[in-house]
Amino acid sequence: MESYLHDDPRMPAAWGPWFAHEYITYFTALSLPEIINLPPVRVSPNPGFHDGRFPTGPNHVDLYKESYREVRRLDPFSSYDYAVRNGEFAHEPPVQDSIEPWKILVIYSTEPDLLLDCDLELNKRQKITGGSHGWRHMQFSLPGLTIGMAPESFRYHTELARKSFAIGNDYWGWRFLSRATHYLADLGHPFHVKAAPWCFLLKSLPSPHRMMQVLSATHTGYEVYSERRFREGFPAFRQALTEGACEGRSSRSDVFAALGGYIRTARDRLNPIFRFLMDRFGRDLVDAYASLDQNSRVDAAEQTRKCSADAAQVIFRESNAPALQELDRMTAEILYDVGRMLGMLLAGFAAGRPGRTG
Ligand SMILES: [Zn+2]
Repeated sequence: MESYLHDDPRMPAAWGPWFAHEYITYFTALSLPEIINLPPVRVSPNPGFHDGRFPTGPNHVDLYKESYREVRRLDPFSSYDYAVRNGEFAHEPPVQDSIEPWKILVIYSTEPDLLLDCDLELNKRQKITGGSHGWRHMQFSLPGLTIGMAPESFRYHTELARKSFAIGNDYWGWRFLSRATHYLADLGHPFHVKAAPWCFLLKSLPSPHRMMQVLSATHTGYEVYSERRFREGFPAFRQALTEGACEGRSSRSDVFAALGGYIRTARDRLNPIFRFLMDRFGRDLVDAYASLDQNSRVDAAEQTRKCSADAAQVIFRESNAPALQELDRMTAEILYDVGRMLGMLLAGFAAGRPGRTG
């Protein structure tokens, strides 16, 4: 059976439409027999570990997708908001229900992009990443500064997973691990670990507004592109993730030991992608994000979603189709690495050897 998440009969339509992180975790988990064959676990309440180092966004609520009601059928090709799905989900844990660990890994992997990391005061420089959400999902250097804390977000969630398994709350063990896969995948995403090519930054110093516009346009435009490819059922992306996951699993390496090299490789991949997007789509793509306002009270992520539909039109214009092959190739290489790291992480947890605390 060769299904592609959105046509997998084991996944209820209420959980769709599906987003990039869910596809990534899905193809990784399906490549690991030690994950896919685990028996269902009973849904449990959040163990409520508190840690002053890592507060939860004040507007976040844990939704339980195990208990759902299908209320609509959205068109995946025009869905850009992770919070709006075909189903509505329970606010209280349906403790009588059970669910397979691999499904937990898939359906909660977009949770960190909801309100979990939003509306927090984490750092006086968080405006550079568009707020606290970006701060926890990115890490890059500017001269003399480190911006963002994504590696810490990843380590922290693997720690929560380990603590949950230790007290016998396997449900939240997998759910925290699902959140960890999100941050780990973000760290392999070039735009999350490098701001832009240095020469571009230097050139745009005199016009910071335009600089921010170009940064949002390239970063978000690239995400619009890859998500659309997944939703089309693009075979090269499935293949890259599957091969990467198998390689990561059989390497038996420590995911924390491999983290530094993984981030450096992702960083090195930014310039060619940035240049491709600017050479190919430049003005049109940046114009799609023209309405962005840095000083607006609306969160940057919220604002950019509104521009995504316009960006998709620019990137997937008929005349661009042949050129996209270059971007497909570069992205498949990225996804191979992401699959490898996720495979290492998940196989490690399944075998009870999740590595050090980091
Ligand atoms: Zn993220």
